[in-house]
Amino acid sequence: MERTPLQEAVWFFYERLGHRFPAPDWGEQREDVCSICGTEGRGYDDNRPNHRVFRCIACTAFYAPAPDHFLTTGKDRSFAGIVKNPWVLDANGRFRSPIGKASRKDDAFVVNARAHGMDFYSAENPFQTLYRGIYDGEFAFPLLFVRLGQNKIESMRMMRLSTSDMLFFWDKSEMRAFDLALVREAGRLPLGEKPWSDWARWGIPEDLAERVRFLKDVRGKAPFRVLTMHGDNRLFLRQVVDREAGEKTKAEKKKRSRKQ
Ligand SMILES: [Zn+2]
Repeated sequence: MERTPLQEAVWFFYERLGHRFPAPDWGEQREDVCSICGTEGRGYDDNRPNHRVFRCIACTAFYAPAPDHFLTTGKDRSFAGIVKNPWVLDANGRFRSPIGKASRKDDAFVVNARAHGMDFYSAENPFQTLYRGIYDGEFAFPLLFVRLGQNKIESMRMMRLSTSDMLFFWDKSEMRAFDLALVREAGRLPLGEKPWSDWARWGIPEDLAERVRFLKDVRGKAPFRVLTMHGDNRLFLRQVVDREAGEKTKAEKKKRSRKQ
């Protein structure tokens, strides 16, 4: 039977990473229809008070306690319970998840996770490192790009595989879609020329008069479909083209916000 996009995503996860987590001690395996992804086949009943559902083995992998993998004795020791920061899992099974300074994950956690095939590493700007990595071809497509939110079931149901054309990022409770070909086209335009560099950073001005002036200025330099591309794509572009000193950016932003 053909898999739905959701089933493709959860089985992609299971085949590359999820199968490494131990089977849960939630009773015998049996066959039924998964309450999350609808896969019919082997799985487990989760009899814990707040769950009481049947999940296929792929979806179970997100919920199964894996204390040896995550070195924790906390209440929720599962992948979805522990990994709150954004992560990418690519076609070759490469798992990368940058963690910010505020994270409580220590060196022992990072070393142990790496031994289990999960690369957590500290980064100044976790999002930028992932966006840049994807843009620079660090990952093999298709891939999963996700930040699981508090609502695990909702997060899992929204997961979707990204291809080299369309990148989907499930960010807690919001789906972002990026047209990678368009972002690349925009990224090849000369940077550092005003007002293009402004636009790459802040987007096309909202104000109508300013917008018209802006479009007149850059017409000929940038294709129309690049100029009018969706906000998500601009967000992606801002993450990858923001190569100038952070201090300068902050100063310009301040100047801009004073004008408004
Ligand atoms: Zn499932």
